[in-house]
Amino acid sequence: MLKAYRYRIYPNKKQKEFFAKTFGSCRFVWNKMLEEKLKALENKEKIPRITPAKYKEEYQFLKEIDSLALANVQLNLEKAFKNWLKNPKHFGKPKFKKKKDKQSYTTNNQGNTIKVDFQNNLLYLPKIKQGIKIKLHRKFEGKIKSATISKTTSGNYYVSILVETQNNDNKPKEPQNKVCGIDLGVKTFATITNDKGSYKVEHPKYLLKAEKRLKRLQKQLSRKQKGSKNWEKLRKLLARQHEYVANARKDFLHKLSKAIIDENQVVVVEDLSVKGLIKSFLSKHVSDSGWGMFLSYLEYKARWYGRTILTVDRFYPSSKRCSHCGYIYSDMDLSVREWTCPICKTYHDRDENASKNLYRYGLDYLRKSREGTARIQACGECSDSGMVITPVYESSFNEAGSSYLYKCG
Ligand SMILES: [Zn+2]
Repeated sequence: MLKAYRYRIYPNKKQKEFFAKTFGSCRFVWNKMLEEKLKALENKEKIPRITPAKYKEEYQFLKEIDSLALANVQLNLEKAFKNWLKNPKHFGKPKFKKKKDKQSYTTNNQGNTIKVDFQNNLLYLPKIKQGIKIKLHRKFEGKIKSATISKTTSGNYYVSILVETQNNDNKPKEPQNKVCGIDLGVKTFATITNDKGSYKVEHPKYLLKAEKRLKRLQKQLSRKQKGSKNWEKLRKLLARQHEYVANARKDFLHKLSKAIIDENQVVVVEDLSVKGLIKSFLSKHVSDSGWGMFLSYLEYKARWYGRTILTVDRFYPSSKRCSHCGYIYSDMDLSVREWTCPICKTYHDRDENASKNLYRYGLDYLRKSREGTARIQACGECSDSGMVITPVYESSFNEAGSSYLYKCG
């Protein structure tokens, strides 16, 4: 299988110049080819197949550039063009590239010209003699297929190395007996219930702090005169802070989703469209809570490791149902954070109660799926423990079913 590994690299001045030239040349060749193709299209001529070699006589500077990088530009443009002609509704017309667009190029490992020196933390690329400093925070094994070098708006450089690897560490793990229910929140990121009880996962402090700083910088920038020296300085700082926040959030969500998937066989969450509703009421609290990203991480990790994610539909009253006696408190307002069940007098924290209901459902599902009866479900309001569910992914251990959107019959 192919796997991509992304690392930060620290090119020296000369290497930066080489990258700048390559980014520019790739952009140049793309625009040249696109212009010719569009012209032919306009004149109702046959669209020419152009190779970058065509421009090398006229534009000598292209000779210094890694020819595989230019060849990739050709391939990408041809693909974009073909897609557009075939399906113009889905794929837009290929655009001319501008300097402010994302700067990157891809080169292939033809003749083993791309190398990673794990001992000395160096990356070798075609046309660059000296190794480039690289931060190898994780190892990989296998054959390198290609490398994509990119520069962010804040001026950092990264390489994404595509590797053909035999070592598949994404294979299904041992099935677990455990289940957890997760209620995603605004102030508290998640409230989780498992066999040990309920606990809350707060947004990490460093992330909240970094977000505050981000907002402060945004405000400061808006007060500076656009284009001025100070504005430019702040803009760079802001771009860097954006990157930092995005990376920190990803890191947090990756760690959390990994821990959850490692531990549990069945994970139950609420459908995000429900959350979307709630969020619009409470959006003042935290900017982007990362729910969507978190769910997508859970989903693909579940796929890798053979776990099941159950998404509970909006018709299931996970917040309004007393997790102790099953009473449904239908008049509960969104703003109610805690309540006492009028029937059994149990005092509930709203999120904890919801996660308990989700957990309970997961348990039920796991039991039924083991008995092979997981298809038999009922809908929330009218049954004791049933929920309307839409499983996102079915793990291999459960052969019982692969359908599913349960509706109240
Ligand atoms: Zn109750």
